[in-house]
Order: sequence, then structure tokens, then C-alpha cells
Amino acid sequence: MSSHLQETRRRRTFAIVSHPDAGKTTLTEKLLLFGGAIQMAGSVKSRKTSRSATSDWMALEKERGISVTSSVMQFPYEGKIVNLLDTPGHADFSEDTYRVLTAVDSALMVIDCAKGVEERTIKLMEVCRLRDTPIMTFINKLDREGRSPIELLDEVESVLGIACAPLTWPIGMGKRLKGVYHLALDEVHIFEPGKNFARQDSTIFQGLDAPGLAEKIGAEAMRELREELELVQGAAPSFDLDEYLAGRQTPVFFGSAVNNFGVQLLLDFFVEHAPSPRPRATTTREIQPEEEKLSGFVFKIQANMDPAHRDRVAFMRVCSGTYSAGMKMIQTRTNKEVRIANALTFMASDREIVETAYPGDVIGLHNHGTITIGDTFTEGELVTFTGIPNFAPELFRRARLRDPLKMKALQKGLAQLSEEGATQFFRPLMSNDLILGAVGVLQFEVVAYRLKDEYNVDASFEPVTVTTARWVHCDDPKKLEEFREKNAMNLALDAAGELVYIAPTRVNLQLAQERWPQVRFAATREHA
Ligand code: GDP
Repeated sequence: MSSHLQETRRRRTFAIVSHPDAGKTTLTEKLLLFGGAIQMAGSVKSRKTSRSATSDWMALEKERGISVTSSVMQFPYEGKIVNLLDTPGHADFSEDTYRVLTAVDSALMVIDCAKGVEERTIKLMEVCRLRDTPIMTFINKLDREGRSPIELLDEVESVLGIACAPLTWPIGMGKRLKGVYHLALDEVHIFEPGKNFARQDSTIFQGLDAPGLAEKIGAEAMRELREELELVQGAAPSFDLDEYLAGRQTPVFFGSAVNNFGVQLLLDFFVEHAPSPRPRATTTREIQPEEEKLSGFVFKIQANMDPAHRDRVAFMRVCSGTYSAGMKMIQTRTNKEVRIANALTFMASDREIVETAYPGDVIGLHNHGTITIGDTFTEGELVTFTGIPNFAPELFRRARLRDPLKMKALQKGLAQLSEEGATQFFRPLMSNDLILGAVGVLQFEVVAYRLKDEYNVDASFEPVTVTTARWVHCDDPKKLEEFREKNAMNLALDAAGELVYIAPTRVNLQLAQERWPQVRFAATREHA
């Protein structure tokens, strides 16, 4: 097997989806711990803290207890290379999360055993559904009293519409938690509380009749376990790899992330069965990861990761071929050639210059405003990867400057921060207003904070009579010019200079659409 093929096959690129507070951050830490990427669990949070020293706006996310930025963490495990793409938890940043989900090959769903399936989880699962992303499930916080495991599986099946194949089964819960039984390995793993900072090499018993097991967990727990297992093994399907890969069945694990319990069983199973990089659709054909020529797409941009250098980084998922430092690539949207000498990779500990990257990996490209979300890079073939969503803003505010001399800095800040994709920036043709569109209210607050922190601009955002925005296209240049003249009051340019109709009301938009049938009003800026 060629080394490219070997490297591709051992990649596992995934994201964790969950409702806030279910334990995503804690589980991430434990996975990194097992991967040897960090010495002691707790580093994910402390890494955030130390980063906030260089980038103060992180303080905002800490204040609010949300994680605004996503990062990429790579670590080796059992001969595989795991790429974990982090996703922001807060609903106001959901588009960012949706785009991250386009860059993974599978997902891990974390559910709080006391709360069951929650609202954000339902939304995120819908997104996974669009691409039939394979999902594994971790039911967390077993050390607390929760709902019965059977009830939880029922809820996943009925609410999320995916069959559950339990791989482990809890023995008790909360104070009575004794351990888990691994259905496929026929092993009982005993829970040892208080071992949350170490790899838990728990006591393992082979089979339910293993000598000493009944004494260890007690006759009562033993009886309950046998009863439940009989029920479960009768009613629940056993794990079926094809069903899982098709996104129709989810293998389920139980555990307690904070106690590091049940996590390794999950990770072992994950690296064995989760898919390696899968083929990806483009505008013209499907690209196979095994192909020799490099291709990839940008799913995320982050401004000012290092404010001292004002750098903006575009995150590109490699879909085929091999990236090597210094190679030339074509940005297919502009058909321009770029030479990439210093792409970054994101090890859990730090970011560093990458020499080679394979399908499934994410590399960071330095961006000076020329790369946008959805951009495809290849070695020459003019294709564009499809399915990277861009969301129409639903909330609009006018930027108001306290110091009029800072106008230039404000424009620059708004334009650069808009590159990240969470907000969009519009300049009306007929006024000097600067209008920001966002999907969630919190984003205005974040932008105001970052303008001050990163651009030294004191701005606030006030209401403006814009209800919705549509990107306008027209094949007939004369018609477009006429449209432009007649509707100048309601037209604006976005950060990339594209023409946008900013409608004061929905009715106004509807009338404009009826009056100008030749003009297309697109709800999102098209990437293709
Ligand atoms: P996230 O919002 O999904 O990233 O959740 P966090 O990982 O920050 O966890 C939310 C809270 O749940 C924190 O206080 C964690 O310490 C706690 N937590 C996480 N895992 C467990 C667990 O297994 N048991 C218990 N009792 N608490 C947990």
C-alpha cells in the first residue's frame, strides 16, 4: 500500500456534538489525555486561559462560559491519527458549528444521562443527517442519578430517529454506579471513583460468571444487570458496521467523562470503526481521498488568532492528495495560483508549521483577506466542493462610532471580522452607514468587544430598519443596471463587494421580487 493510502486510511476526523453542559469539553480533555496529547486532563480549559493572555476577547467567552472559537486537535492513538474539530457550544454560533460538521467524517454525540436528548442536540443531529454522517453516542454523567438507560435509548431512537446499538451497559447509576458491561467484549469494567486525573486501568472481569465479580458488585446489582441485559439483548439491535456508516444506527457507550470512566472503551471502538476520510462531492464530480492530487476546502476563518501579527487563518480540510510545504495550489474561485510555504497544523499542545498533511487533516493557511469560507484549493482542476453552508443574517444593526476619526479602522475591523462568516458587513450605496448582519444577538456584543480589543475602535450597534438581505444576480447586465438605479435606496455592497438587496420589510422584498422577475434574490452568498 502506498504511504498516501496508508496515511489516509488511518485518519479519523470527527467533531463532538452536544447541548451545552453535557460534557463536551470534559470529554475532549479525556480523549486528549488518552492520546497522550496532554499530560493532565484540565489542559483544554487552561489552554483557553493562557491563550486569553494573548487574545483578550477570549475573556468574553470565559465571562459568558461559552466557547466562541473552534480549534483543531490532532493526536495519535493506537496507530491511528485522530483529528478532533471542536465546535462552539452557544446557539448564536451555530453556523460555525454547521460548517465544522461539513469538514468531518463522523461525529460523536454526548448526552447528559439526567437530561436526555436536548434541543441543541436535535438541531445538530439534523445537520449530520443531511450528509448521513455516522454518529457514535456517549451517555455521560453516570456518576449522577439519571434516567433509566432503556428510557434514554428509547428517547434517542424516537426523537432523533436513529437506531441504538448499546456497546456498553451501565451497572447502577449515581451513588450505586459499579461499572459498565461491554456487550461485544463480554467484559465488566469496574468503576473506581476519584481517578479522574489518571488513565483508569480499571479492574476488568471477563464475563458475567467471572470469579469474584458477584462479590465485587453485590448480588443485587448482579441480578439487576442480568435482567436488564436479557431485556436489552432481546430488544436492541447489535452493532452493524454498515448501518452505522450509513448513519442509520448509532453505537452507544455509557460513562462518566469527569471520572474518566468508559472513555477509553469508547475511544478504542471509535478508532477501530469510525470511517477514514470519505469521498466528497464537488460541482463536477466526486473526489476520492485516495486520489494523488491535492484538494481541499476552507470551512472556517479566524481573524487575529495572534493579535500581535494581525493574522487571519483559513482552516482547510484536506480531501485528497498530500499537502507538502512549499507546494503550489490553485484557488479555484479566482483561478489564482498560491504558493503555501507555511501552513499551520494544530497539535493539541500548540500550533506549528506543517511539513505534510493527508486527507482528513486540517491545515491553517495564512489569509490576507483573499480567502473566503467555501473556497476550494486544488493542484489545478477547477472544481468547487459543495455543501458548505453560508447563512443569511436575520438580525441587523448599524455600527455607531464614538470617535469619528476611527472610521477607517472600523471599516477594516468589520470587514476582517466578517471574513469569519459569523457576521456579514454591508455598506449601503446611498448612505455612509455601516450595517452588520448576524444570526444571533450575542454576535454584536462579540464584535463590539473585539473591535475595541483588536482594532482599538469604540463602537456600539443600534437598531436599523433592515429585516432581511438578498444577494442579487442577473444574467442581463442592462437589466441589472436598471435594477440598480431604481433600487439604489435598498442596495448595499457586502465585504466582498457583491451587490445585496437590504429589505426594510418582508413585504418590500416580496414586491421587489415580483417587479423584477429577471433578478435572482439569493438568501445566501453563493460560494460556487
Ligand atoms: P460542555 O458545555 O458540553 O463543554 O460541558 P463541560 O465539559 O464544560 O461540562 C459541564 C459540567 O458538567 C462541568 O461542570 C463538568 O465538570 C460537569 N461534568 C462533565 N462530565 C461529568 C461527569 O461525568 N459527571 C459529572 N457529575 N459531571 C460532569
